[in-house]
Amino acid sequence: MGYRKQIYTEALSVLKARREQAEAVASAHKTQFAAKCPEALTIEREMAKTGLSAIRAVGAGKDAEAIIRDLAQYNLELQAKRAELLAQNGFPADYLQAPYTCKRCSDTGAVDGEPCDCYKALIRELALRELSSATPLKRCDFESFSLAVYADTPDENGLIPREEMEAIYEFCKGYAAQFDENSGSLFMYGKTGLGKTHLSLAIAAKVIEKGYGVIYGTAQNLLSTLEKEHFGRERDADTESLLLDCDLLILDDLGTEFSTGFTVAEIYNIVNTRGLRGKATIINSNLTLPELQAKYTDRVTSRILGSYSVLHFTGSDMRIQLR
Ligand SMILES: [Zn+2]
Repeated sequence: MGYRKQIYTEALSVLKARREQAEAVASAHKTQFAAKCPEALTIEREMAKTGLSAIRAVGAGKDAEAIIRDLAQYNLELQAKRAELLAQNGFPADYLQAPYTCKRCSDTGAVDGEPCDCYKALIRELALRELSSATPLKRCDFESFSLAVYADTPDENGLIPREEMEAIYEFCKGYAAQFDENSGSLFMYGKTGLGKTHLSLAIAAKVIEKGYGVIYGTAQNLLSTLEKEHFGRERDADTESLLLDCDLLILDDLGTEFSTGFTVAEIYNIVNTRGLRGKATIINSNLTLPELQAKYTDRVTSRILGSYSVLHFTGSDMRIQLR
C-alpha cells in the first residue's frame, strides 16, 4: 500500500504500548489473586515446574512421550484447580489473562508471520490521521447532516434546494453503505458552504469503518505536500503512491490551490491513474463547470465529467442562513 516508514514505526510502538499495558494488568491481577488466595502461588509454581520438566523430559529419550503426556494432564488439573479458586474468591474466569486489544495476535501485530488485521487497520488509521489532522472527522457523519437548513421554496431555476439536497444526501448515504473495490467516483460541485465537505467526510467515516483505506485532504494541502516531496530532499516520503493507491481518495476544494504547471499535471496524473486502476475518487469544487474547464486542461475535465457521478449542490450558503 506504500505508506511512509514513520507510519509503520508508529504502528509498532502503539502495539507495544497496548501489549505492555495488557501485561501490566495481568500481572497486577496475579498479585491481587495471590494476596487473597495464597494457594494461587503454589499452583503458579507447580505450573512453571511442569514446563521445565517437559523440557527435561524431551532430553530424556524413549520415555519422554509418556512423561510429557502425564505432565500435560497434571497441568490441566492445575488449571482446573486455579479456575475453581478464582471462582471461590469471586474473580472472573479470565481474571489472570492479559486483556489484549486484539485477541488474535495478542497485540504483536502478526499471526503466523502474516500482518494481523489490527496492524493493517492501525496503519490506515495513522496514515489517515496524518493526512487529515486538521479535520474534525468525527463530527461530520450522516446523522449530524441537517436538511432543514436548505430552503424548501423554489430557487431562481425552479428547483427546491431541500429536495435536491435530500436526493444527494440519500445518494451519498447509499454510496457509503455499498462502498467496495468497484465503487465509482463522485464529483461534487456548487457554492461554498453547501455541505460538500460534510457529506464527503461522512462517506469517509463509513468507508473507513468498513475497513478501507481513505485519504482526505484539500487540494491545496495535498498538492503542496506533493510539490515539497517532488522538489525537496524528502526521499523517504511517498505521498504520491499513497494518493494513487488508497481505496478512496477525497480531494476537497479543487480549484483553490495555487495553480502551476506542476499542480495541473499532478491533478491529471491522480485522476487518470486512479481511473485506470479502477480506484474511487471524490472531488469537491466550488468552481462552476465553465470555470473548471478554464482552469484545467480538457484532458482533466473530460475525464472527470465523463466518468464521475456529478452531484450539483444547490441553494444558498447554509452557514449564512444559520447566522
Ligand atoms: Zn491483531
